[in-house]
Amino acid sequence: MKSVPEYFGSMVFNDQKMKARLPHATYKALKKTVQNGEPLDISVATAVANAMKDWAVEMGCTHYTHWFQPMTGVTAEKHDSFIAPDGDQVIMEFSGKELIKGEPDASSFPSGGIRATFEARGYTTWDPTSPAFIRDKTLYIPTAFCSYTGEVLDKKTPLLRSMERLSNVAVKVLHLFGKEDVTRVTTTVGPEQEYFLIDKKMYDARPDLIFTGRTLFGAPAPKGQELEDHYFGSIKTRVAAFMNDLDEELWKLGVLAKTKHNEVAPSQHELAPIFSTSNIATDHNELTMEVMKKTAEKHGLVCLLHEKPFAGVNGSGKHNNWSIGTNTGENLLDPGKNPEDNLQFQLFLAAVVKAVDEYQDLLRITVASAGNDHRLGANEAPPAIISMYLGDDLGALVDAIIDGREYKSVGKSDMLTGVDVLPDFKKDTSDRNRTSPFAFTGNKFEFRALGSSLNIGCPNYMLNTMVAEELSQFYDVLKSADDLDETVKELVRKVFTEHKRIIFNGDNYSAEWVEEAARRGLCNFRSLPEAMAHYIDQKNIDLFVKNGIVSEAEIKARYEIELEHYVKQLHIEALTMIDMAQKNITPAVSAFVGKLTETALSKKALSESVSVYAETSLIEELSELLESFVKKTADLESAVEGAKKFDGDNLAQATYYREVVFTEMGSLRELGDAMERKTSAQYWPYPSYGEILFGV
Ligand code: ADP
Ligand code: MG
Repeated sequence: MKSVPEYFGSMVFNDQKMKARLPHATYKALKKTVQNGEPLDISVATAVANAMKDWAVEMGCTHYTHWFQPMTGVTAEKHDSFIAPDGDQVIMEFSGKELIKGEPDASSFPSGGIRATFEARGYTTWDPTSPAFIRDKTLYIPTAFCSYTGEVLDKKTPLLRSMERLSNVAVKVLHLFGKEDVTRVTTTVGPEQEYFLIDKKMYDARPDLIFTGRTLFGAPAPKGQELEDHYFGSIKTRVAAFMNDLDEELWKLGVLAKTKHNEVAPSQHELAPIFSTSNIATDHNELTMEVMKKTAEKHGLVCLLHEKPFAGVNGSGKHNNWSIGTNTGENLLDPGKNPEDNLQFQLFLAAVVKAVDEYQDLLRITVASAGNDHRLGANEAPPAIISMYLGDDLGALVDAIIDGREYKSVGKSDMLTGVDVLPDFKKDTSDRNRTSPFAFTGNKFEFRALGSSLNIGCPNYMLNTMVAEELSQFYDVLKSADDLDETVKELVRKVFTEHKRIIFNGDNYSAEWVEEAARRGLCNFRSLPEAMAHYIDQKNIDLFVKNGIVSEAEIKARYEIELEHYVKQLHIEALTMIDMAQKNITPAVSAFVGKLTETALSKKALSESVSVYAETSLIEELSELLESFVKKTADLESAVEGAKKFDGDNLAQATYYREVVFTEMGSLRELGDAMERKTSAQYWPYPSYGEILFGV
């Protein structure tokens, strides 16, 4: 058996393979593109294509695919074989042009009205900064996706642009500090991924899971997560086998899978990789989610990535650990030993604080989804209000700067375990605040409000862009300063003073915070339609246009796509509920009541004195519930029908789905769950929460 270092990256056309297989000049040219963002020559592409193909064919590949991330939120691929006719034989061919450009028929991908179907052409373009890899005998080439007329139709292009933009301004700022050797700044991300794992047989018996990814009915099991015995608990054999397989697959694909553990809810787990550049982290996170699903299948399991598959227990999110580093190896968000004297750190911190305050709406918008609406603000995930946690130490520093006071860092203290055989160690300077949506964690920020299924490209391009914007404003102030230190100090103090409302170190789950946040004037958007309405506020359009990330038309298209997607998801959920209600739940309860009636009648026929209390009380209770249930099903049907009057106005329609349809769904579920509690398990048509959540 091979060791991990031997097979790590074996399915990736990585640096080592390129070096071994490419002519030296080609290799160097490609490296320049990857490291410095320099444009790529077609002759380089031709040589790379050839080497890639030779390697892929040696590895047993027959096909290649341009792998891209359209606005559907899932990745897309179209496979072409390498074959080219050669007399009555074939040879395996792959040209530089085929590597650089692909042309999938793009007419069915959402474009938010940007691209009419009569000009449906879309192009995929090779992203040389993310390595190609092999899956299922196919060479996967990470690509960006745009329309014939050049509009951006994917999630990768804005991310790459934002990384470039942030690098350009950050480098200029660092040069002011005398760091002339810095030529490139890169944002890094480590996304912690939560998921549920359930038995495939349970999944197959639940149309709600199949069609919507979450259970639309389901009474709580007698046990949920209250004992907190699943969190970090010992991993069950079947799950451990899945996790080992998953790690192995991911390592072959060069994904730095590092940590795995059980999460809070029963059947819930987490995987965290070691961080990499935002672009590769995004591709790897997409890949991780796909490999999770495929690996689960092999084990007779299903991996659920929905944000809220089960009511009453925690849903799943993703923690986006984010930082900025230089090509010289410096982490720009590392406070160092003396943050009070580290003006460069203070300036970058100020940029993040100002960005999060001014664009708190965008951060909320970027994590909005139908699934995440069940989490944000619902006492488990961070609240829907965006604020920042800096920790005691940095918080005190910021206060001191605002007040113009002298500040001395408390520094790390010793952790004394009090047991001789246990080693003592240095404690971190601050404890964690698990309730904050945007927390400083030593040398990075952890954005915790992401939903588990989200493509992390979006939050990261927003984050990069807003920080780039603030840094470029800072640069304009600092570039002609006579006394840089004094000007930085003044600027930092001004920024912290003006934006301190965004800093909150207390309990984000408390009701007092909601009131306090309102007093501070912070946004509190409780659902996707409420949040999304602000996507196209002028200041947000200005941000993206000024920084060259996406155009006004593209933002508006994205806004329409998000709303449309939300409407479709809720529509499917409502139809699924109606279907389950009419085809299975109503007939099942009716049959059970029929059986009870039969039993009661035959008991009475046997002897008048026999008690039929159990049957009659249940018959009465269930008949009443069933009547309400049938009426509520009809109400939901007409609510769905009523949405048609908003056709053509996505925001109004999304708001209607949230306020009317979603509310009706909630009432129907309550009745359904009440009937489930009273109905014989033999009659209930679906596996229970107990069976699903505790079955693996
Ligand atoms: P936890 O928050 O669970 O205690 P860690 O603090 O160890 O975990 O790290 C969480 C994630 O943050 C990991 O994916 C890790 O690789 C990532 N991380 C660490 N340093 C950086 C950085 N400089 N930039 C981005 N992510 C980072
Ligand atoms: Mg975390």
